[in-house]
Amino acid sequence: MKNHVLGLNTLLLHAAGDRDPVTGALSAPIYQVSTFHRDHENPSKYDYSRSGNPTRDVLEEYIAKIEGGSRGFAFSSGMAAISSIFFTFSPGDHIIACRDIYGGSYRFFTQVLKQWHLDIEFVDITDNEAVEKAIKSNTKAIFLEIVSNPFLHIADLKGILDLCRKYHLSSIVDNTFLTPYYCRPLELGADIVLHSATKFLNGHSDVVAGLAAANSPELADKIGFMQNALGTILGPQDSWLLLRGLKTLGVRMERQSSSALKIAQWLSQQNWIRKVYHTAFPAHPRREILNDLSSGHGPLITFEVNHPDIADNLRRRLSIPAIAVSLGAVESILTHPATMSHASIPAVVREELGITDNLFRLSVGLEDPADIIHDFDQAASC
Ligand SMILES: *Cc1c(COP(=O)(O)O)cnc(C)c1O
Repeated sequence: MKNHVLGLNTLLLHAAGDRDPVTGALSAPIYQVSTFHRDHENPSKYDYSRSGNPTRDVLEEYIAKIEGGSRGFAFSSGMAAISSIFFTFSPGDHIIACRDIYGGSYRFFTQVLKQWHLDIEFVDITDNEAVEKAIKSNTKAIFLEIVSNPFLHIADLKGILDLCRKYHLSSIVDNTFLTPYYCRPLELGADIVLHSATKFLNGHSDVVAGLAAANSPELADKIGFMQNALGTILGPQDSWLLLRGLKTLGVRMERQSSSALKIAQWLSQQNWIRKVYHTAFPAHPRREILNDLSSGHGPLITFEVNHPDIADNLRRRLSIPAIAVSLGAVESILTHPATMSHASIPAVVREELGITDNLFRLSVGLEDPADIIHDFDQAASC
């Protein structure tokens, strides 16, 4: 019993702030405040909410514990997390990033950091040799998503972390898709993990937020400095909502993932389907690498229908999934990458990447899978 390690579901409920030290309340108080009285005899650790807020602190300590990091951070969005972390680098630094990257990160790297003379090079992250070849004397970090959007290509995180150790590079993982429930990159040796908490971590389509954790106090100090300097903080109300959403991360991921597998299997048997991508399918490329990194597969399914009329039918006639950008919510969300998440990519490049007008990504929610299947069946067969 001595060395009993708490399970993740227990941690998700009790990692922080589940009992207010003053009143015993089972949820953290929302300190909706901008500034704090300075008592000269007995100064509080807080002075101004950009620099520190007790509700945000509970969330930041919580994510640090869940990820196994030395310190956590709550940002106003996933992009605020990414930008604050990248502004800790200096002009002239070279950073390697995965080619299949989230569109907002691509825009930030190519349209903001470029002007700032940060040299970001996009490399096929599933090709460790290509990654190693891209390393230069001024390379400072590798930034990657483990599972790519929309084709769910799998990065060999352990191999990439070996390269980072060999060449003394920082490793930054955008783990939005797998969440700490399935994969904790800091435990595998990554330096920084970040999430768009807007997605699975909050899970309820009602908050835009980012979370991050760093594995060393030095890195954490740099990120904390930037968070305060840029003001990319999450407000107290949203911090509280996120704490509430996170409690159920485990049950949501388990249920949504098992529904997704059923729906993916059904989709792959339909005659209007050209191809279904799901990381739990035995034929999914590099599935064994993911199995070694992650204890689950998550609720995302990408599929291509075989005719533009079917694509039209789905977009017009589905009644249960919202047709929307975003993912990871308790409600199912269907995204049409060509006109939504990847619309800013030129059409020629999109075709090259295989993002045709017939391609969809489904983030399966908590609805009964039979109802989602029925909905797709009626929409496609009109
Ligand atoms: C949504 C998303 C982001 C950006 O997060 P926001 O909360 O929308 O700013 C970053 N990375 C990935 C993988 C995402 O899905």
